[in-house]
Amino acid sequence: MDRSNAPPGFATRAIHLGYDPAGAEGALTPPIYMTSTYAFESAEAGGEMVAGTRAGYVYGRTRNPTQTLLEQRMASLEGTEAALALASGMGAITATAWSLVEAGDRIVIDHTLYGSTYAFFTRGLARFGVEIAVADLADPAAAASAIRPGTRMVYLETPANPNLRVIDIAAVAAPARAAGATVVVDNTFATPALQRPAEHGADLVVHSATKYLGGHGDLLGGIVAGRAETIARIRGSGLRWMTGATLSPLNAFLILRGLKTLELRMERHSATAARLAALLAGHGAVARVAFPGLASGAAADVVARQMSAPGGLVACELAGGLAAGLRFMNALRLVTRAVSLGDAETLVQHPASMTHASYPPEERARHGITDGLVRFSVGLETPEDILADVARALDAAA
Ligand SMILES: *Cc1c(COP(=O)(O)O)cnc(C)c1O
Repeated sequence: MDRSNAPPGFATRAIHLGYDPAGAEGALTPPIYMTSTYAFESAEAGGEMVAGTRAGYVYGRTRNPTQTLLEQRMASLEGTEAALALASGMGAITATAWSLVEAGDRIVIDHTLYGSTYAFFTRGLARFGVEIAVADLADPAAAASAIRPGTRMVYLETPANPNLRVIDIAAVAAPARAAGATVVVDNTFATPALQRPAEHGADLVVHSATKYLGGHGDLLGGIVAGRAETIARIRGSGLRWMTGATLSPLNAFLILRGLKTLELRMERHSATAARLAALLAGHGAVARVAFPGLASGAAADVVARQMSAPGGLVACELAGGLAAGLRFMNALRLVTRAVSLGDAETLVQHPASMTHASYPPEERARHGITDGLVRFSVGLETPEDILADVARALDAAA
């Protein structure tokens, strides 16, 4: 295959973009700039940099060269003009909302969101005079009627945490564009290796880099990617004044290291998750399996259009409900009971009592986050070992 004129592919950009060893004493790996502030070559130069009329680094809360490289790579991988790195996924989500929304605005959120994101909108922002409308954005008719003129922001996850519902981003972006609303998509579960929301009409893409982007369960981080002007606004207010949620240079370095293997890891996570989903679907102790690779009907079309592989998250409900689910989790030996996801280790958690405990119980039930739901983040161990542990624990719990 002749690629001499082709633009660099995803993995090539994840490994090389924006860095030339010649600029750093030949170091193959980009250096970590552990500094809180920067020396100005003259008083005038410092004044101009603070005023924004001269390029340069001023203070570490808003910019650091190790973060800059991460931001350039994430913008390229998501296919956006710019990106901003922050201290956590919640730092990215809150800095984005605080920068773009005012009292009196209306925000439409999907009804299935990460627990702390849902709490931020419904119990946090709602206290500051922002109207929060909760809608089923997987239903294009419900989306179109909820997103009316005057809506400032539309916020969704796809696949959604924890029940893996998928949402047609383009079907939400069309009424949002007509209403003048900014569409924000949390792409934590799929990552840009499998899904690039900006290609389907999302204005901003947010991430918990704590999960697959870092990929090794050893840091917290967040990303927001989008148009350069919007990212500059979020950096200048949401990060600088309103949250101070700055990513440490060491964590920026670790996320850059994670990105180098992102595509490779997502292929393996997806392949093993597909095998686990098939095992669960074929086991008599399991009542229901949620996995984008097993979607049917309109959801299957959305998965085919938006995702190049199903990802590493699988949820299921045991026929014995909550009690059987907890027995099953306690019978696992290799699979680790823990919240979070996207690590090398296979993790299992119980959303109703863990990640989604911040939802009132009646809203959890209404949103399909049932008490018996168990969620796996399928890791990178030898697939047969993961499958054997789950099969044995299912038999023990049945
Ligand atoms: C974990 C998570 C978040 C929050 O990210 P933190 O890095 O923990 O702050 C947001 N959205 C999704 C989908 C998540 O899984």
